[in-house]
Amino acid sequence: MPAAAAASAREILTRLHDVMAARTGAQAKLNQVVGIIGEALASEVCSIYLLRDGVLELFATRGLQQEAVHVTKLALGEGLIGTIAQNVETLNLDEATSHPDFAYRPETGEDLFHSFAGVPIVRRERSVGVLAVQHAEPRRYAEEEIEALQTVAMVLSELIANAGLVDEQRRTGDKASQSDQPVRMNGLKLVDGMARGHAVYHQPRIVIEHTVAEDTEAERRRVYSAFAKMREQIDNMGREAEFGTEGEMKEVIETYKMFAYDEGWSRRINEAIDSGLTAEAAIERVQQRTRMRMRQIDDPLLADRMHDLEDLANRLLRIVSGQLGTAASQGLKQDAILIARNLGPAELLEYDRRRLKGVILEEGSLTAHVIIVARAMGVPVLGRVRDVRRHVSEGDLLLLDVGEGSATVRPTGPLEDAFEAKSTIGAKRRAQFAALRDQPPLTRDGTRIALMVNAGLRDDAQALDMTGADGIGLFRTEFQFLVSATLPRREQQQRLYRDVLDTAGDRPVVFRTIDIGGDKALPYLRQDDGEDGEENPAMGWRAIRVALDRDGLMKAQARALVEAAHGRALNVMFPMISEPWEFDEAKTLFEAQRIWLHDRGKRPASIRYGAMLEVPALAEVLDVLLPKLDFISIGTNDLTQFLFAADRANPKLAERYDWLSPAILRFLRRVRAQCGNTPVTVCGEMGGRPLEAMALIGLGIERLSITPAAVGPVKAMIRSLDVPALRARMAEWLDAGEHDMRLRLTAFAVEQGVEIN
Ligand code: PEP
Ligand code: MG
Repeated sequence: MPAAAAASAREILTRLHDVMAARTGAQAKLNQVVGIIGEALASEVCSIYLLRDGVLELFATRGLQQEAVHVTKLALGEGLIGTIAQNVETLNLDEATSHPDFAYRPETGEDLFHSFAGVPIVRRERSVGVLAVQHAEPRRYAEEEIEALQTVAMVLSELIANAGLVDEQRRTGDKASQSDQPVRMNGLKLVDGMARGHAVYHQPRIVIEHTVAEDTEAERRRVYSAFAKMREQIDNMGREAEFGTEGEMKEVIETYKMFAYDEGWSRRINEAIDSGLTAEAAIERVQQRTRMRMRQIDDPLLADRMHDLEDLANRLLRIVSGQLGTAASQGLKQDAILIARNLGPAELLEYDRRRLKGVILEEGSLTAHVIIVARAMGVPVLGRVRDVRRHVSEGDLLLLDVGEGSATVRPTGPLEDAFEAKSTIGAKRRAQFAALRDQPPLTRDGTRIALMVNAGLRDDAQALDMTGADGIGLFRTEFQFLVSATLPRREQQQRLYRDVLDTAGDRPVVFRTIDIGGDKALPYLRQDDGEDGEENPAMGWRAIRVALDRDGLMKAQARALVEAAHGRALNVMFPMISEPWEFDEAKTLFEAQRIWLHDRGKRPASIRYGAMLEVPALAEVLDVLLPKLDFISIGTNDLTQFLFAADRANPKLAERYDWLSPAILRFLRRVRAQCGNTPVTVCGEMGGRPLEAMALIGLGIERLSITPAAVGPVKAMIRSLDVPALRARMAEWLDAGEHDMRLRLTAFAVEQGVEIN
């Protein structure tokens, strides 16, 4: 802002400050405000319109007929005032009547005036009113004058919010959302389901309470130190691994850095402080201006960058205002749909499970761990909804229908009714699946499939009774580590394992030793180790690699598991085994603990050891490994990312390779054949989809461990399947090099009446 404008804005702000501090009523204050602004800008007319009951009402004026106050009303989008509010944009016209949206209101007496400038009064990114000036002489208002008006509008938004002059529930929409119209957004199906709830941003927007500074120099110091802190955070971000998507992380951080160190940005904020605003108001003021400019540019790439800048401005606001926590720390007040750019699994687990109904991510991919956690929690997730921030404000009602790949914001009554009706059908279908609970997973030809569930949280064990599953085929022990702020002690681990075994009773539980690293970073462990962020964490120091290097962790876990399983069967599985010696070492370590405890009277009835096949290299040495172990479990989430060299957390690759591709199916067929009599389970997400599960059975895999919600649909598939027919067809297709296995398998299912939906 040029110096002259800053000076005039400051002069106005000083006077406004006095008005706001005075003990007069809101109407009297508005009357004074129009006087001050009109005078300061030497404008013949100055008027304030506020949104009340969905229409813009003239609340105060200097220069127009006083009789028009509270009489003149304009709908959103009507006339110049309605257009400004609806589009949240400034208009600056030398001849108002020649604008196509001009609407004449005789009672105001405005026919005397030619030039017109109006700015929206914005609260929480939406218009709540309009501040306008008019002049008899046709002239364009200077940029500085517009700047001053925009700054004043910001202060006015504080005044009218404090006075409760507008109904904040009935705000106007921005350009994209066109008033309060419903908007349907599309995204990628990550966790199926339907949910209704109110929008909650994981990183909440800061609402600015005070706009006019008491002490400009103090505000400047606050901004300086906030900038310093923010830059430090951005510089550290690589290490913090704040984003789940490692692949895109670098790009995002580079952009953040660029903005964080951008001289222009900090200078503009400084200038806004010069004009008399508080640090918060100055940051927001600059952001508003940028938003308005960006709206005029229709470029998706720039829109993405704008996203990043919004994120950063919000971060700066949080630092400066000291409101640092995520929405989880404030607690969910009602049924909520959480909105985030991306989340870590631990961040998701911080939310109240009773109120968290669904999640919308701007990024996200199918096998990222946060998605596995969400699936375990039964929370539907829609991913890659790029435009969610443009359309959705905090608190907006959202209907999430992941099956349709869509989310609807601000639904109308009929839309809500249709959603309800569909949910009821979904509930009926779930009831049908639930009715299968006590039916065995037997195929039509009498093949008994072992159908187990994946679990990781204490409550998950209850899924056994709810689904009628045969056991827990994968218990992800690292979840306990992810939800704790500090390393869980051995006693805590033991308690969890004992509870899970108690709930499972006779049904087997396969405990996987901790698989941390990759997208499951533990902040406390990283700090202890002083490790720098890895270039490629999925292929980095994770799972069994960490466990063997930090064997204290593994020893404690071994003791906890053996003690918890006293008198019962214990199944232990090691993740990410790449070479047989890793299995040997892990087993030796466990055995040493078992023997030590055996001598002290803590004795599991039996102990079986297994390995996860997730690294393709292991398939080449299976003959060496098989005699050493009791079972194999194929983790298709990691396995497929390594087979295709495609990061499971990278949203750009989320849909690129198919689980039903011949490469994967042939690989699995070979492994299954090699394993001979050694039990083989598939415990990746692949087995939880009926068509994919059918293909696995077709390859000879008869043990599946899947997400609890998938037990019903997969069991329905199993009970309608004829295995010999499928095996013969699959062998034919795979041998012949058939490319589109998905098409073939779907056609087979339809032809044979196999339930795959
Ligand atoms: C897998 O990789 O398929 C697996 C089951 O383990 P996780 O998803 O926990 O890495
Ligand atoms: Mg894995």
